[in-house]
Amino acid sequence: MKIALIAHDKKKQDIVNFTIAYTEILKQHTLFATGTTGKRISDATGLEIHRFQSGPLGGDQQIGARIADNEMDLVIFFRDPLTAQPHEPDISALMRLSDVYQIPLVTNLGGAEVMIRALDAGFFDWRKLQD
Ligand code: PGA
Repeated sequence: MKIALIAHDKKKQDIVNFTIAYTEILKQHTLFATGTTGKRISDATGLEIHRFQSGPLGGDQQIGARIADNEMDLVIFFRDPLTAQPHEPDISALMRLSDVYQIPLVTNLGGAEVMIRALDAGFFDWRKLQD
């Protein structure tokens, strides 16, 4: 599966901790991330991650484009609901495209925990039929 990982600044340590906890599952998949999030995760875990631009510089839009091209299977996005983001329109566009293409997207740690376990249990194997 192709998985996108994104975290707003105040959630970056949370996503690092999440990826440390689930490295064994994540390393079985193809990982993508926005720039700073990807660097923090790869430094902490050693996971191989394709890094797009930083979110405010277009990274969310690049992930959205992958969704539109049927090149992304899951988005794990740790959003900060308490801080205004300069690239809010890009974030909305990414979420909209996930809805357009029915791509699973979670926006917090609780959802991510459920999603990663579902992934590991094979719940997304139907996506392989799309390849
Ligand atoms: P970043 O982008 O990983 O480059 O910080 C994420 C974001 O803030 O949207």
